[in-house]
Amino acid sequence: MKGYIGKALFVDLSTGEFRDEVVPDEVYESFLSGVGLGAYYLYRNIPQGADPLGEDNMLGFVSGLLTGTGSVVTGRWLAVGKSPITGGWGDSNCGGNLSPAIKRSGYDGIFFRGISRNPVYLYVDDNGPRLMDAGFLWGKDTVESEELLLEIHGGSRKVAVAVIGQAGEKRSLIAGISNDKGRMAGRSGLGAVMGSKKLKAVVLAGTGKIEPHNREEILKITKEYSDKVKNVKLPGMVKGSMLPMASRLMEKAGGLMPQDGMMSIPMMKKWGTIFSNTFGLPSGDAPVKNWGGSILDYHFSSYRNMNPDRIIEREERKYHCYSCVIGCGGVCNISDVTGGKFETSHKPEYETVNSFGALLLNESLDSIYYINEIMNRAGMDTISAGNTIGFAIECYENGTITRDDTDGLELTWGNTGAIIALAEKMINREGFGDVLADGVKPAAERIGKNSYMYAIDAGGQEPGMHDPRLDPILGIHFSADPTPGRHTVGAGLYYNYMRLWDFVSWAPKISSRGSKGNKYEATDETALKSVANSCIKQILDGSGGCLFALISGVGNWRLFDYLNAATGWEKTPDEYMEIGKRMQTLRQMFNVREGIDPMSFRMHKRIAGDPPMREGPLKGRTVPIEDMMKDHWKYFGWDGETGKPLGETMQALDFARLLNME
Ligand code: SF4
Repeated sequence: MKGYIGKALFVDLSTGEFRDEVVPDEVYESFLSGVGLGAYYLYRNIPQGADPLGEDNMLGFVSGLLTGTGSVVTGRWLAVGKSPITGGWGDSNCGGNLSPAIKRSGYDGIFFRGISRNPVYLYVDDNGPRLMDAGFLWGKDTVESEELLLEIHGGSRKVAVAVIGQAGEKRSLIAGISNDKGRMAGRSGLGAVMGSKKLKAVVLAGTGKIEPHNREEILKITKEYSDKVKNVKLPGMVKGSMLPMASRLMEKAGGLMPQDGMMSIPMMKKWGTIFSNTFGLPSGDAPVKNWGGSILDYHFSSYRNMNPDRIIEREERKYHCYSCVIGCGGVCNISDVTGGKFETSHKPEYETVNSFGALLLNESLDSIYYINEIMNRAGMDTISAGNTIGFAIECYENGTITRDDTDGLELTWGNTGAIIALAEKMINREGFGDVLADGVKPAAERIGKNSYMYAIDAGGQEPGMHDPRLDPILGIHFSADPTPGRHTVGAGLYYNYMRLWDFVSWAPKISSRGSKGNKYEATDETALKSVANSCIKQILDGSGGCLFALISGVGNWRLFDYLNAATGWEKTPDEYMEIGKRMQTLRQMFNVREGIDPMSFRMHKRIAGDPPMREGPLKGRTVPIEDMMKDHWKYFGWDGETGKPLGETMQALDFARLLNME
């Protein structure tokens, strides 16, 4: 009765064998569940040097400690494994309804190793796990496959499906894993790992119970937060067309006054992440023209097409992940813009809109609906795909490649037809699409010449659509995290909204007097903020929580109290942050053991402002990223020069004992 199940399932796809393992309580107390449980098992079981697409790599599906306990906005799951993109630790966070299904099926995590001879899927119900033939699904997209599996196994029961599309089957290194017909665990290339194992899907139909220690207390916290979310609203007169102006005003105000993160919730309720479509451009947050342009290249007449009001007009219904009271998702009718090819689709996220909009100077919102759906169906990460096409366009515009290389496509900025054609070619690994289908770094290696100048990445991973030249702490997380290029780990803005300093003794307080601060200098304060971001994000990913609840503030969405109520532990926020530090350190230890030089994950110099932009909102801004990475590592107790966890830190975190427990 601690919220977690206490058991993990191990499946050997080479032999077809299953093994249940009881997980000691101490593992949860030391690493939580979710990504921590994944790191604990994968560090111990993946041999050093394992081929990410080979038999020895493992792929895990892990739920969150809080999922199903009566807590809200805690229905996220993660895929974990060795990443074929970075060659190090990989994980990818996703919503939908899979997370509770993992627990209802009797496990906190399901881990695969080996390679099946033929395509299979795992089916788990109350009678246990079975591997079933997936030959009839191979070649089908994620939506078709999920629908077929639900037809076979669903009926009136609650069944959840995680599945790969053609991108995963073809082992595209930017392939993700889909659930709920288009919610995507897109990062780290774990769809390629699933494809390499010939594992088409995981189908979970268990009906087990999830029991927390103190459900009453959890429900009390839930009610308090749900009421807050319900009561916080945007005035009716606020329209999407006003967002660019609001962005300018906020930028002008400049100073980092402490904020109540609940102010982000009404926008998420009304629009979801797409409020950033136009909000992010005037401030410089949203990258333009392969991270080399600005709103001077993609001005108002272009980006007003991405007005989020235009997108929610198409919403047939709101979409909530499991247990979510915010509901930032939506299902849109896209029948007319796809010529009837697709009826409905998950609302495109901001990341997709910008990756295929401003980043490529594409002004066609209709094309983005289409691309969003074909990418979701193929199971390809839109952030990576958009970045890779941006790279290809810049290569073409600068003469590094020509029409002879691009199968005749005229890859110029904003050429919607060519962008769609290239997206389709990438999915099918056809012609020039095959060159790009593994992401920006392998594409630059294949094209050669000076193309690396245009390949914007961090450690091989294409970065999310937020610019570190606006928020340098974001750049620290892009560069110094064991999973580089992530926009969801932390930022100066998130730090402000979370208000961790009200709970964590060492988290620097943002002064109410406000301050422009010296965010472009490497300071101790900046390092402490980024370390705090990293620790709390690990706790979040161990709990199954959603980032959007976290940034509404830990005083509003009471994560630490939820954890104590679920488990019966009486840990302080500082003690939880220590667990977060342990989880993050283990992920870094995984990378170091693989021989990765953590400094090699430093983001591309263009997005650190080297050279600085000559115009636009980010004009003249440079981020001293190496110094910031070193400070970040130092405050983690890792070597400040190399990023390797120090022996004394590993000792203090008790790794020698914990990693050798039977
Ligand atoms: S806020 Fe959005 S992404 Fe987060 S759990 Fe809710 S619906 Fe899912």
